[in-house]
Amino acid sequence: MRPPTAVLTRGFDPALSVGSARPAVFRSSTYVFTSPEAAERAFAIAGGRAQAMPGEHVDLIYSRFNHPNAEILEDQIVPLEKGARAAVVFNSGMAAIMTSILAFARPGDSMVYTVPLYGGTQHLIHEFLEPFGISGTAVRAGQGAALVKAIAEARNLRVVLIETPANPTLMMTDIRQAVEAAGKREAPPVVMVDNTFLGPTFQHPLMHGADVVLYSGTKYLGGFSDMLSGVALTADPALVKTIKARRGLFGNILQPDECWILDSRLPTVNLRMNRASKNAQRIAERLAAHKKVERIHYPSLFADADQVRIRDAQCDYPGAMLSLELEGGKAAAFDFLRKLKLARNAVSLGGVETLVCHPKSTTHSSVSAAELEIAGVTDGLVRISVGIEDWRDLLADFEQALA
Ligand SMILES: *Cc1c(COP(=O)(O)O)cnc(C)c1O
Repeated sequence: MRPPTAVLTRGFDPALSVGSARPAVFRSSTYVFTSPEAAERAFAIAGGRAQAMPGEHVDLIYSRFNHPNAEILEDQIVPLEKGARAAVVFNSGMAAIMTSILAFARPGDSMVYTVPLYGGTQHLIHEFLEPFGISGTAVRAGQGAALVKAIAEARNLRVVLIETPANPTLMMTDIRQAVEAAGKREAPPVVMVDNTFLGPTFQHPLMHGADVVLYSGTKYLGGFSDMLSGVALTADPALVKTIKARRGLFGNILQPDECWILDSRLPTVNLRMNRASKNAQRIAERLAAHKKVERIHYPSLFADADQVRIRDAQCDYPGAMLSLELEGGKAAAFDFLRKLKLARNAVSLGGVETLVCHPKSTTHSSVSAAELEIAGVTDGLVRISVGIEDWRDLLADFEQALA
């Protein structure tokens, strides 16, 4: 079955939802066992002391570990991610990232990560993981040789975390190169890719050898800026099993109602992302020539040869995130935001509606000057998450705001 079919048909049996064509919402916190023996068996399997037989019906236990809507969602999301065989859902993207890292790294271990990272992830590393005893080595996005060196030299390396393209300049990192470097170590670290910006439609890290793909499902997967969620997907089901065991301890599974909402958004992810990417490409290519735009960051307009090589190797389409550097710095950026009539001034991304923000004073405001310099976040930079409105209306809105 091809993904658009699989996403609508697998993982859901109407007979288990009294014949309902769409899944029911199972809000129960606990489940009634079919027998004491079935309860014993369910606990043995949940505790890792026994393995479920193929086709065996195992009783559900308690909704912090698992519930029907999470199971349905996890089954249905797998075909959207090329190469995936298992998924685990969380109540936010940060929960997916934190739980996946802590499933593999413990105090005394280290991780290598690309910068810039999503602000929350950067804070997680500096304010929690480092004081907790998991040290980190930062490597600038797109610096392949430095990444290979850091992966080769880090002590007790357990996790490599790559975010590509990087926010907000869309600088890309070569996933396969990192995977190959990781594979050369005696005990290879787990390579994780935050695929929120281009996945699942345009970038497929598991096909390049990554171990774990991470999402803020709050963005393109959810698609309507009305819910929080997170997902981790792997080719090796054993990795998802390890992450799920941590999720059961932390208690950050996605709740039944949210699972049901996200499940209903999956069949349209590719439609929404394709439309938004086409819109963004048309807008970016026209704004690139605008006299008030000093510089534009968008994958189809990359000039650097190595960035072009990485883009062509790992991205199908350029996606719907773009950034403009405006002539006139912060004042010009703020004027632009004030004058927009259709696009809204908000952080977050990946919704059907177009959102614009000024990273330096908002999403990146707690980042040091040196790190901002590295990240390429300038005073005049505005980040745009292009939605699925008619691109001509959006272009006209951007042009009138620039004027
Ligand atoms: C939003 C985002 C996150 C965090 O996700 P939440 O759902 O807000 O917890 C992580 N990574 C990237 C790239 C994001 O854009």
